[in-house]
Amino acid sequence: MATRAGADAPSGTDLSGISTDRLDSAARTKALHRINLEGGSTYLPAMLAENDSVLHRWADDRARRPLRVAILRDDTVRGFRETFIANVAWAIGRWNGVGLPVWLEQSPDSTGAEIVVTWVERLDSNRTGRSDLTWQRRGPIIKVRVTLATHLPDGRPVQPTQMVALALHELGHAIGLGHSPVRSDALFPETSATELTSRDRGTAALLYSLPPGSLK
Ligand SMILES: [Zn+2]
Repeated sequence: MATRAGADAPSGTDLSGISTDRLDSAARTKALHRINLEGGSTYLPAMLAENDSVLHRWADDRARRPLRVAILRDDTVRGFRETFIANVAWAIGRWNGVGLPVWLEQSPDSTGAEIVVTWVERLDSNRTGRSDLTWQRRGPIIKVRVTLATHLPDGRPVQPTQMVALALHELGHAIGLGHSPVRSDALFPETSATELTSRDRGTAALLYSLPPGSLK
């Protein structure tokens, strides 16, 4: 059975409260050309359609500064299992395996962490995971809060393999990916994928070859 990992697009906040800056026209032309050439085997075009032609991702200099991911233990949340920490850590390893210019590193606490993973018993809106992104006006992501539920919308407890699928999906959002229309991809809204597909990897690689910002 598919695990609903977010029926909605990841929500985001712009620090300045205004919309993301447009790329200048030369950068925009170059980016659109690249998407035309390489986007066909990815879901980047679907992401642009879903998100009003805006791309968000972490800045390039993150290659030298790992993104610290704090996976907070929370025994007070009903249904929390120690295994879930390892499930998220495993998903971190899969995304690191793509070879992007961002490197995720598990951090022991949330102090200074760019990505914080927390737990709740249930989420609203018929979903099991959500990612809340904060970005700068020019487009780079600067902070993400990932919330994972210990129970599916129908009330059944999330199993470890489902948590792997959820974590892969939400960490994909955390690095800037939107939803894929293809069922087998980790970023399909109702994912059950416990491995990244070549489309997941290719979309992430293409995203990180483009500048963040609005392509409108
Ligand atoms: Zn999602």
